[in-house]
Amino acid sequence: MIKDYNGVIVCASKYFSCDEIRTIYQKGYHDFGENRVQLMVEKMEQLKDLDINWHFIGHLQSNKVSLIINEIDYLHTLDRLSVAKAIQKHAKHKIKCFIQMNLTEEVQKSGVYVDKLPQFLLEIKKYDKIELVGLMTIGMDEDMIKTEEVFKQLYDLSKEYHLPLLSMGMTHDYELAIKHHATHVRIGRKFYELLN
Ligand SMILES: *Cc1c(COP(=O)(O)O)cnc(C)c1O
Repeated sequence: MIKDYNGVIVCASKYFSCDEIRTIYQKGYHDFGENRVQLMVEKMEQLKDLDINWHFIGHLQSNKVSLIINEIDYLHTLDRLSVAKAIQKHAKHKIKCFIQMNLTEEVQKSGVYVDKLPQFLLEIKKYDKIELVGLMTIGMDEDMIKTEEVFKQLYDLSKEYHLPLLSMGMTHDYELAIKHHATHVRIGRKFYELLN
C-alpha cells in the first residue's frame, strides 16, 4: 500500500469494524492505533486471538489511563504531567511513550509546545514507568507547507533530544512525513483501498 517504506505502518482503525481489522491483519498489517479508550478496550477484547501491536493515538484523559495502559504496546500521545502521573500509578511495567508535540501552535490541538519540552522532559525523568521512545505530531490540515515545516522540526527535535522514533504522517501527508524520516506513519482512510 505504501511502497518502499521500511518504517511501521500503524493502521488508524477508528474507521473499521473488527471484521475489517481482521481482513487488514490477514493482509499483513499487525499494528493498529485507536483513539478512543472505550472502543479500543472493546476491539482488543474481540481481537485478542490476533497478535496485534496496539497503539493508542488519541487524546488520553488521566482518569482513563488505567483502562488501557497495561494492554497497549505504544502510547503516542503523552502530553501532560497528569497523564504521566497516572501511568506511574497504574503501569505494571515500563510503557513505551511518544511525546505529542503541538508544533503548529493551534490552540484546539493537544501536545507540548516546543519551548516547554525541556522542562517536560526533566519532569518525566522522575517516572520510571515511562520509557520515552520518540516524538509524535500532527500536521496542519490544508497547509502542506506548514506541515512539511513541522515534520522537519520534529525530526530536528528528535536528534537534539535523542528520541529516535518519529510518529507523523496520515493519509494526506504521509509522503512528506516519510521524506522527513517518520519511523511510524498513522494511516486511516487510505486502508479503504485495501478493503475494496
Ligand atoms: C484518524 C487518525 C489518523 C489517520 O487519519 P487518516 O487521515 O484517516 O489517515 C492519524 N492520527 C490520528 C491521531 C488519528 O486520530
